Amino acid sequence: MTTDTPTTLPLGSRADYLVGSVIDSSTSLLAKQTHDIVRFAMGSPAAEAIPTEQLGEAARTGLTGADAFDYAATEGDPPLRTALLEMLEGTTDATTDERLTITAGGMQGLDLAAKLFIDPGDLVTVESPTYTNGSATALAYQAELAEIEVDEDGMSIDALRVAVDRAGRTPKLIYTVPTFQNPSGTSMSLARRQELLELARGWGSVVLDDDPYGMLRFAGDPVPSLHELADGDPLVFSVRTFSKIIAPGLRVGWVDADPSLGQLLIHAKQSMDTCTNLPAQRMVAEFLRAGHLEEHLATQRLEYRRRKEAMQEALTEHLSGRATWTDPEGGFFLWVSFGTGLDTEALFETALADGVAYIPGNAFSPGRRFPHDLRLCFASTPPDRIREGVARLARAVDAVEAR
Ligand code: PMP
Repeated sequence: MTTDTPTTLPLGSRADYLVGSVIDSSTSLLAKQTHDIVRFAMGSPAAEAIPTEQLGEAARTGLTGADAFDYAATEGDPPLRTALLEMLEGTTDATTDERLTITAGGMQGLDLAAKLFIDPGDLVTVESPTYTNGSATALAYQAELAEIEVDEDGMSIDALRVAVDRAGRTPKLIYTVPTFQNPSGTSMSLARRQELLELARGWGSVVLDDDPYGMLRFAGDPVPSLHELADGDPLVFSVRTFSKIIAPGLRVGWVDADPSLGQLLIHAKQSMDTCTNLPAQRMVAEFLRAGHLEEHLATQRLEYRRRKEAMQEALTEHLSGRATWTDPEGGFFLWVSFGTGLDTEALFETALADGVAYIPGNAFSPGRRFPHDLRLCFASTPPDRIREGVARLARAVDAVEAR
């Protein structure tokens, strides 16, 4: 258990920049609740979507012998690297062996990028709203953050230009979640992806392309990844993860970066964790080798579409005229904006007591620009519970507005 008591130990100045994550903290907050709660807060796959039987089988076949529990190569276990390259073949994330580093989930990929590129005081642009843990990682390396507006076509490139003009210097790193963005659910259009790459090239900036949801498209036409559009240009540093497509507890992901960074990535990772958890790597490799992923993804896409639709229908029934929301074509999240001036941080306690949890909008903005918005995860809850959760949310809104 942690306490709020400030330490008297001689911390480094870096500690002032460790802001934590409201999203991750909600896991422990919710674990302490004993009443029935519809959980729209965490971005977890549905419990039913975790392929437990196949992972069990992968553990039985992949984890025989002591060597499965030894240290592994820092760049990743060869069987996983091979299976991953095959999995990506023919997709927008197709890549080559020398560009790959296996990581402890997407978060380690973000941390490695920040560790390699950010000096204290460097300008880093983040989307507004952005993935909290991504901006928190840049802050932990003492970046100066500029927030760039997001609309239905993703990050606004005009806003990016304006922010850079205003800052009077170019960004070291441009952080983006281009597809089914966490938290807004919107995707960056092809034209904007191309413009972004062109600008970044001109500025000499690195594009941190964090795309954990791209394989979970359930509507609309695919858009090429920033990785593919860069066509080998070293400026794109891509972070990917198995967390949303297989299971987050495995903590396995990968970085796809210019081969000139390979040794540095290995050295940076060696001072963090030596290697990614080997039993987890072996399980993922076996899961892929057995050919389970395609069918698993097809089932997930259908189910997530059903859940998104259930959430939108319930929002229309209960909050029409009082709020607007986005219409994602994939991924896990919907972004709800209240036109009424409702304070979604103040609403949280009432909503939690009424049995529904979400993440308030301000958690997704270092400058706390979203006091009247909130993020809902539709992926982890079955449709009937989604309807119940949205009804509870609307009741909490009524109660707070009546005060
Ligand atoms: N980036 C984004 C945009 C995410 O949504 C997440 C997970 N919520 C991550 C990175 C981190 O992924 P992982 O859990 O694999 O560390």
